[in-house]
Amino acid sequence: MKRAEKALSLNEEGLLAEVVGFETDEVASQAFGSDVDTYGGKRYIDFTGGIAVHACGHTHPEIVEAITAQAGKVQHVSDIMRHAPQLELAAYIREIFDSILPGEDPWTFLFMNSGSESIDSAAKLALKATGRSELAAFEGAFHGRTLLATALSRSKTLHWAAYEPFLAPLRAHIHHLPAPRCTDCFASKREECCLDSMERLLDESGDKLAAIFFESIQGEGGYIPLEPQMAKKMRALTKERNVLLIADEIQAGWGRTGRWFGFEYLGIEPDIVVFGKAVGGGMPLAGIAARKSLMQKWTPGEHGTTFGGNPISCSAGLAALRVIEREGLVERACVVGEEIKASLMTLRGANGLSDVRGRGLMIGVEFRDERGAPDYARCEAIKQYARKKGLLLLSCGAKIGKPSVDNAAIRLIPPLNISNSNVQQGIALFKEAIQAVPPSG
Ligand code: PMP
Repeated sequence: MKRAEKALSLNEEGLLAEVVGFETDEVASQAFGSDVDTYGGKRYIDFTGGIAVHACGHTHPEIVEAITAQAGKVQHVSDIMRHAPQLELAAYIREIFDSILPGEDPWTFLFMNSGSESIDSAAKLALKATGRSELAAFEGAFHGRTLLATALSRSKTLHWAAYEPFLAPLRAHIHHLPAPRCTDCFASKREECCLDSMERLLDESGDKLAAIFFESIQGEGGYIPLEPQMAKKMRALTKERNVLLIADEIQAGWGRTGRWFGFEYLGIEPDIVVFGKAVGGGMPLAGIAARKSLMQKWTPGEHGTTFGGNPISCSAGLAALRVIEREGLVERACVVGEEIKASLMTLRGANGLSDVRGRGLMIGVEFRDERGAPDYARCEAIKQYARKKGLLLLSCGAKIGKPSVDNAAIRLIPPLNISNSNVQQGIALFKEAIQAVPPSG
């Protein structure tokens, strides 16, 4: 049996857990740039980029070459000894950090496998370094799927409800601040202002609080950017109380927003930066960055990983970052993102399309139904319509039963080097889907 037939027949057997919520029933056969082919004979324009992973597109030749070359040298040594790809990647990343956040105390890095695991790592470092016992995050946030990251997250009730009895004791150590919805709040002060709550929390238990986690753009929660004004106040408040500020840049990092990191728009320096997704050039890689004086608060052996910072992943990541820099993809994300937003803005306010937001190529398009409620059903239907026409889309948005937080959006996160023709075709198909699928009644 040929591979295609075999793959399609295996796909019918229900071998894989459905819990991850596969977006399609198809099997990928080949992918290049912003095109994904399937064994069913379809070709898709990919506006999902493997969930914001493929900054340089699928199977970029330089990344493939780096993977192939490293696979024949050292595949894995674990924490037994350091290896060249990790050192080289760290040096490259340090240059980026030094250019954004200069300072005497050098930036150092811990590499892990996944974003969630790196969130756990950042929490452990904060707890150890401060000797405190509590953490805070925002409503609407998504920080991952490990049990700690699940407890920190508050974007979809579905993500935590089943585990709540187990998570309850952990939650006693976790504070959730109101979702940062600052543009609305600046316009007319909301009852639930995240900064007011933060001030209260710091007054009441600032000496117990180790860190506050934030996303420069709330990702899974609906692609809602943080405002610089709010971020600067948050930075000042946390500094006063020696509370660490942890930036979750897993989705927004590595050029996606039109800057290397989303927090650059906010004009603040976080104490710990958590990164993932694009840093591995399509291979599993993530980690945390902190200045040396903070990272050294950990005793050797207190934390670790078997596979984290794998040589092949680091080689792929280094190749990806070089491509991003050489091809000017950070700037391109900005330019193409603005074009896409401008084109979609023309539809805003009509037809249930309530907002177009985001930075660079991290764009959220929000839909509300005729009563003004989040139109989750329409997002699903738009995705399905677009898929039939050959465009892969993903949705996002919070769903926790709170009108001030909940929203339904389609996110546009194509590779940063997506061709102009695929952008135009993709946006035309997206617009067609918006017109074809009416708002829910
Ligand atoms: N934080 C953010 C902001 C994310 O977007 C994600 C993944 N969508 C995670 C954490 C978790 O990362 P991973 O899936 O690699 O564990």
